[in-house]
Amino acid sequence: MEQVMRNAFLFLSKNKALTKMARKYGLRFGAGRFVAGERIDQAVQCIKELNEKELCVTIDYLGEFIDTEQEANEMADNSIEAIRAIGREKLDSQLSLKMTSMGLDISDEIVMNNMRRILTAAKENNVFVTIDMEDYSRCGKTIEIFKRLKEEFDNVGTVIQSYLYRTVADIEDLNQYNPNLRLVKGAYKESPNVAFPEKKDVDDNFKKIIEMHLLNGNYTAVATHDDAMIEFTKELVKKHNIPNDQFEFQMLYGIRPERQLELVKEGYKMRVYVPYGTDWYGYFMRRLAERPANVAFVLKGMIKK
Ligand SMILES: Cc1cc2nc3c(=O)[nH]c(=O)nc-3n(C[C@H](O)[C@H](O)[C@H](O)COP(=O)(O)OP(=O)(O)OC[C@H]3O[C@@H](n4cnc5c(N)ncnc54)[C@H](O)[C@@H]3O)c2cc1C
Repeated sequence: MEQVMRNAFLFLSKNKALTKMARKYGLRFGAGRFVAGERIDQAVQCIKELNEKELCVTIDYLGEFIDTEQEANEMADNSIEAIRAIGREKLDSQLSLKMTSMGLDISDEIVMNNMRRILTAAKENNVFVTIDMEDYSRCGKTIEIFKRLKEEFDNVGTVIQSYLYRTVADIEDLNQYNPNLRLVKGAYKESPNVAFPEKKDVDDNFKKIIEMHLLNGNYTAVATHDDAMIEFTKELVKKHNIPNDQFEFQMLYGIRPERQLELVKEGYKMRVYVPYGTDWYGYFMRRLAERPANVAFVLKGMIKK
């Protein structure tokens, strides 16, 4: 049943008509639990509140179905607006963004131009930028773009997903760049030809890449809500005397907020991924796909209205 629901929400997340409708009608159905708002001032307010609790942030301007150069350029403009707000308001925040929103499905040249604009503005404002990882069909291209950008900029990192078979080879290959990587399990529906179908294998591979990347001496963001993975990381860093400034934990906004604060209290760096923007629908559906308990929460919210 859980798998059926997961597939249904992932299917719905890709619906263009519903995305457009959601844009028009504004944040609904309890999406405000996972999305900071539709405008930058709402995101800034949210970051301030998290920073006050000693939580660091990475902010993401949401954008789905970017089909034209103009749309990609507008997405880049919005990310630059967010970077300038971080600098102006002196927020403890990085920026995250997706290569499709920069024009990956249109041309590499558009992506590179937009990313150079963003990373230059980010450098001026002392902001680090993480390139999110999308579905398998975009993974290779995203890594190639990351490598090209890394040769020009030092304030850029990317994401590696433990559910993919190719991941261990990617960690080995990327080591030459000493990259700052966010490690995740992976959020998309992938074929068993490219990704482990069994959760146990995804978890084992997650532990493996956390260990590889940390022992390679690279900065590692362990992005998970899974206590087993958090405990594994804590034990690993203790065993190998890895300093607290070589790694951090990351969680999504609205998910396990109490656990986020506990980790801060324990002395760990904890970064919250804060999405905002009018394109909240696809992101919201992917969160519902991850956890059926979130669906119950949403239904309660709808009944209350
Ligand atoms: C900061 C951040 C950035 C991300 N960026 C990307 C990206 O760029 N690309 C990508 O593909 N994916 C990304 N993801 C999503 C990621 O790949 C997973 O889909 C998502 O994090 C769910 O996996 P999990 O590791 O949290 O654990 P799961 O395997 O989903 O859950 C394991 C256990 O964690 C606990 N748990 C999980 N959720 C909750 C909850 N809501 N409440 C209480 N307990 C819970 C439960 O005990 C559960 O059994 C990101 C995730 C985070 C946190």
